Amino acid sequence: MTNNIVVKQDAKIADLIKMVKSYSKNADADMVQLAYDFAEKAHTGQLRKSGVPYIIHPLTTAHILAQMEIEPSIIVAALLHDVPEDTEITLEEIEKNFGKDVANMVRGITKLGKLKYRGIERYIENLRKMFIAMAEDIRVMIIKFADRIHNLSTLSALPEKKRYRVALESLEIYAPIANRLGMGEFKGLLEDLAFPYIFPKDYEKVKLIRESVITEKSAFLEKVISTIKHELKAFDIPTISISGREKQLYSLYEKLMRKNWEVTNVYDIVAGRIIVPDLGDCYAALGIIHKLWRPLKGRIKDYIAQPKPNGYQSLHTTVFAGEGKIIEFQIRTKKMHEEAEYGIAAHWHYDEKGHKLPSRDIKWAQELAGMQKEILNNIKDLEEIKVDFFKNRIFAFTPKGDVIDLPEGATPVDFAYHIHTDIGNKCNGAKINDQLVSLDTIIKGGDVIEIITDKNRKGPSPDWLKFVKTHMAKVHIKATLDKSRLAWFKNIIKKPPNR
Ligand code: MN
Repeated sequence: MTNNIVVKQDAKIADLIKMVKSYSKNADADMVQLAYDFAEKAHTGQLRKSGVPYIIHPLTTAHILAQMEIEPSIIVAALLHDVPEDTEITLEEIEKNFGKDVANMVRGITKLGKLKYRGIERYIENLRKMFIAMAEDIRVMIIKFADRIHNLSTLSALPEKKRYRVALESLEIYAPIANRLGMGEFKGLLEDLAFPYIFPKDYEKVKLIRESVITEKSAFLEKVISTIKHELKAFDIPTISISGREKQLYSLYEKLMRKNWEVTNVYDIVAGRIIVPDLGDCYAALGIIHKLWRPLKGRIKDYIAQPKPNGYQSLHTTVFAGEGKIIEFQIRTKKMHEEAEYGIAAHWHYDEKGHKLPSRDIKWAQELAGMQKEILNNIKDLEEIKVDFFKNRIFAFTPKGDVIDLPEGATPVDFAYHIHTDIGNKCNGAKINDQLVSLDTIIKGGDVIEIITDKNRKGPSPDWLKFVKTHMAKVHIKATLDKSRLAWFKNIIKKPPNR
């Protein structure tokens, strides 16, 4: 599926079952119905703040997930997700009726729900719990995102103060995590639903800007698209779909702020999106577009050869498409598209024949979660985690081709500590792309880093604390230094730190 997810407030269980059956031929539809009946009975008499029966909430949550054509067991868990927290029914009963796997997912969501603290502590507690959930079972996070999306879509029913808190949490915690997991569609929904509650005036302003650009460019884009269709056909380049896409509001807001609200400098408010069967077709289509129109300098981006850190792959180009109009195009295969929209969730996604897609490796996400857990256990400075987790990330490579994921501005010392504490502690020099560099050199995306270690090295240099960027490196350097102050002093005496 390539349509956007819609939060349908009046979805029916029959719709849900029909959807699940349509993408999963072997789905146990009875199980979905059973879960619905079970949850409905458990929530009997409970109402949402908006006045509708409570069951509407888990049903809509499941409906959001079904639009991603996700594995039926996740749908079942979504239907049951609030049962243990809000009713008398226990997790044991859920396990007895729906099995261990479903019960474990529900347990994970229940654990995420209970937050003790307020303010900054709540923020950290929230993050820590989510990283634990991610490390244990990413499906829990996927359900949690859908749950949050439905809650945001009905936020107006809550008291004002609570509205703000839920929206802010979504914007500051949920959306960045969805983004890091490559879940573009969820990230966009979380942000756009929270946006009006956090920055109401800016929200209205951005909406107006987007509408005016859509009005200005839509007809023109249609024309451009039909030209491309014709040309691709003439050159026998197969396509799955060519359509216009509108930029999500909050992401447009962020871009406008970066560009000092110079709307004319934002080219992708509306863009053309071309989805093709194979990798080679992407480059062929790009060639056709460049044959038709002159590209803007520096605006051709090959995220296929060099994916974004969250796994996003696509070709982007911006062209002078005639009549003085500038249009951006995004070209990708169907698989890339699904991964861009669903990210990690594509792992539990079905294709239209009802087969599970070959899953991409989710180990990276679990490793990331594990790493963040460790960091959060040592957390003192909130700004530091924000840098580590939310700042733009880059990919760097070991000489063997393993990918190391780092925040922008990271140095070879950060890289070394991310491979292993010992590599960091014994780090004595570094090569970037075969060139010897100083340890404070800033790594760029795609760099190949070779760490030169010295097994006789006593430990890290305190000087490294002046330039390392990641919390992990800081924690390890400080810990090692503290561990043996004496060795540290000896180290300084032997080897002056200003190298
Ligand atoms: Mn819920």
